[in-house]
Amino acid sequence: MIKISVRDIPSNGLDIDQSIPKEGIGLSSEEADIRSLLNVKARLEKINNVIIADTHIKAEFGYMCARCLQELHSTEERSYKFNFDIDPNTEYIDLGEEIRQEIIMANPARILCNNDCKGICPKCGVNLNTEKCKCT
Ligand SMILES: [Zn+2]
Ligand SMILES: [Zn+2]
Repeated sequence: MIKISVRDIPSNGLDIDQSIPKEGIGLSSEEADIRSLLNVKARLEKINNVIIADTHIKAEFGYMCARCLQELHSTEERSYKFNFDIDPNTEYIDLGEEIRQEIIMANPARILCNNDCKGICPKCGVNLNTEKCKCT
């Protein structure tokens, strides 16, 4: 979790910048293939009973082509705006949990290395993007 104490947010806002492993916000390897630390930058502002968190994340995400099973990876930056409703008893908010849910929701079900990916030969298993096989 990325636990932020409501009392620590001054009237002019709070900036955070931290790099944490994905497990730090409770992401398992099945939920997201993240190959670097997750960098989280956020600006938090408290306005009456709401905390607004203008959040940017950056990490290297890994994927696997659904056809040829080639490993792909790309460094991605994503931005989110979260609103946390608070009341006078709220001691802290968990920014990490919001980010975790966004990452899981954005996890694509099917990725191709290339729209023209030829895939793998079902008979001999060669990657048809890089090799030709003799199967008919
Ligand atoms: Zn492919
Ligand atoms: Zn073949």
